[in-house]
Amino acid sequence: MSDNPFPNLHVVDHPLVQHKLSHLRDRTTWTPLFRDLLREIALLIGYEITRGLPMDSRTIETPLTEMEAPFLRGRKPAIVPILRAGLGMAEGLAELLPTAPLGHIGLYRDPNTHRPVEYYVRLPADTNRLFILVDPMLATGYSASYAVDLLNRNGIDDSNVRFMAMVAAPEGMRAFNEKHASVEVWAASLDECLNEKAYIVPGLGDAGDRLFGTD
Ligand code: URA
Repeated sequence: MSDNPFPNLHVVDHPLVQHKLSHLRDRTTWTPLFRDLLREIALLIGYEITRGLPMDSRTIETPLTEMEAPFLRGRKPAIVPILRAGLGMAEGLAELLPTAPLGHIGLYRDPNTHRPVEYYVRLPADTNRLFILVDPMLATGYSASYAVDLLNRNGIDDSNVRFMAMVAAPEGMRAFNEKHASVEVWAASLDECLNEKAYIVPGLGDAGDRLFGTD
């Protein structure tokens, strides 16, 4: 939507992603379709986010011959949705990486300060791997930044973290980059701004409510 001045933000402008995002934004899109679209777009963004995963090769036999075949190397990335809306996107990513461990970070937004309040954290025991944090709305950037701080406190360096969002706001990217400018962020759109309630405009509304039908 807007020009992207953030070197660490990758906006996935693939036509399928943009088409599905428009349906996702539409206020008449009801919960079952919203859920499907969130999962599908996450899968497509996941395709880009995992592009740089390290590979090696081993010998296999096809029905015709032996060959050196490429495989993913090392531990699979951990997928860590920020509850609760992150769950809807984590599903799509887990389809791509079925053996990836899933952690959870529970944060809610204090309605007055808009600051994150932590209520649940469970991470995979083996932290020596890539971590993909997942939250559809990078709005104020406070939750995103808090989640990366939390990973840092658990010994995970910024260089081993990627962030997957659906929609990012410029204000959120600026706040996030004050502490974590080296963390690469992927999103389907960089939107215009936040409104007075810290919702992204044009955005898609409350992602958690639309995903779980609680609005
Ligand atoms: N959280 C949401 O669900 N939507 C927004 O626009 C901002 C934060």
